[in-house]
Amino acid sequence: MSALYFSPMLLGLCLLLAIAVAATALWLVSRPIAGPGFWMAGSWTLIGGIVLFIGFMVTGSPTLNVLGNAGQLAGEAIFLLGVFRFMGRPLPWWIVPLSVGTMVGFNIHYWIYAGNSDFLMGVYSTIAGLLPLQAIWLLMRARDDAVTRPARLLVAISLLIYSVVTLIRGALGYLDWWQQQPYEMPYESFSYLLPYNFAIPAMVMGFIGVTLMTMQRILARSQHHAQAAEHSAQRFERLLSATSSGVAIVQAEQIQDANIRLEQMTGRRRSELLGLPVSRLFNHDSQPALLASLEQGRVRQLEVQVLHQQQGQFDAEINLEPLGNNGDQILELRDISHHKALEAQLHALATRDSLTGVLNRRAFDQAVQPELARCERHGHPLSLALLDLDHFKQINDQYGHSMGDKVLQSFTLCCQQHIRSSDRLARFGGEEFIILLVDTDAAAALRLMQRLRLSVHQLQADPAQSDLMVRFSAGVTQWQAGDTLDSMVRRADRALYQAKGAGRDQVHCWPLANEKIDHVDP
Ligand code: GH3
Ligand code: MG
Ligand code: MG
Repeated sequence: MSALYFSPMLLGLCLLLAIAVAATALWLVSRPIAGPGFWMAGSWTLIGGIVLFIGFMVTGSPTLNVLGNAGQLAGEAIFLLGVFRFMGRPLPWWIVPLSVGTMVGFNIHYWIYAGNSDFLMGVYSTIAGLLPLQAIWLLMRARDDAVTRPARLLVAISLLIYSVVTLIRGALGYLDWWQQQPYEMPYESFSYLLPYNFAIPAMVMGFIGVTLMTMQRILARSQHHAQAAEHSAQRFERLLSATSSGVAIVQAEQIQDANIRLEQMTGRRRSELLGLPVSRLFNHDSQPALLASLEQGRVRQLEVQVLHQQQGQFDAEINLEPLGNNGDQILELRDISHHKALEAQLHALATRDSLTGVLNRRAFDQAVQPELARCERHGHPLSLALLDLDHFKQINDQYGHSMGDKVLQSFTLCCQQHIRSSDRLARFGGEEFIILLVDTDAAAALRLMQRLRLSVHQLQADPAQSDLMVRFSAGVTQWQAGDTLDSMVRRADRALYQAKGAGRDQVHCWPLANEKIDHVDP
């Protein structure tokens, strides 16, 4: 037993145990890298096989001999599969059943027919020595993986040493069998001691090699990820500077980062923007909606007023999105003042008369409907006046069309000066105008029209044309239950017709036809 204490066999077993423990640790720290799982499984299987084989040497049990040899070869084969897995190559699974099956076959034959143990040891060593050749070939030839090349060579050389030593051991076994040498216990035989002195150190070296290979791959991957992250950060930066929107990264309602466009939009330097409460970029009226959006964490196309340090405020639209899950938010500001001005222009074009600037007929129709409804509900008086310039065609003919235009403009201005902001004035067509007078009965409307008529008498569209006289006739009517705009216009038109018929420059009312007033105190 003392021979066992000092034998390389026990040391070899302990070294293999150290490899198995280290392989387990390597597998744990290197996941999800492929390969170390096989190295761990292979090491433990190999140790299992050696323990069984020691059991055979102590007890002499043939079963333990078969299982021990099978376990050792299976462990070696599984370890080698890890190299293929690491290199991303198809796994030659067949090496496991082929090597184990061949060994078990010979072993059983030896067991049943009491064969020669040196010959059996020769078979075992031949299989174990040939097994690594395919992996050595792959490790030396994998040109697509330059990063792991030095470590790969170390593993290849280690496996080669292991192979050569094991094959020599096999050859010695065959020689003993040929020369019919008497059987020696393994720990007394040179051919048994050979693997423990040389093959196991080669395995230790090989394991250091696979560990280095794994570490190099981890390092290469993290370098690759770091480069990818840097590249992505640069692209994000470029994207932010190329966009026409102002962009800020916001955290806890404070600006953490801003692009150059935001500096231009707010008239603030980047150093001023960083750390600034984001609400300071917006005017007072926009704050409640903004703060609600920040709290909610997300908003789309919210219209706000942005403050420019030097140029006052302008219309903008903001989008807010969470950026990652660390509380960062990305705030995008788009200047929509141009768009808003265009919208206002389009609205004016659609609702205003281009010559006089007052409502057009369609817009008047829309503006009047709520007033009619209000009148219907509350019974407040409401009147409508239809005004038509007298002999306007003559003005055009005598003074020219552009002078006619000027007259229409000054007449409109005069009308606007006489009505209240709640009243509605519109160009009804050509030289005809319509006025809706709210909270006004027919008598008051007549008085107002009369005052307007006298003012128009004073109108001078052009100082150079002092003889140009502007006159108008008007028809007035008051709202009656069940009236629509059409029915009121029809009555006012009738009154206007009367005024024209009665000699023009007059204001008539319908149905109160007797309310014709030519001269009322202003
Ligand atoms: P009455 O007293 O009966 O209303 O006679 P009138 O000449 O005012 O009426 P008429 O309907 O015969 O002529 C209206 C004229 O108004 C004809 C048209 O050329 C002119 N007119 C219509 N729109 C414009 C405009 O935008 N600018 C100018 N300058 N003239 C216009
Ligand atoms: Mg007319
Ligand atoms: Mg006319």
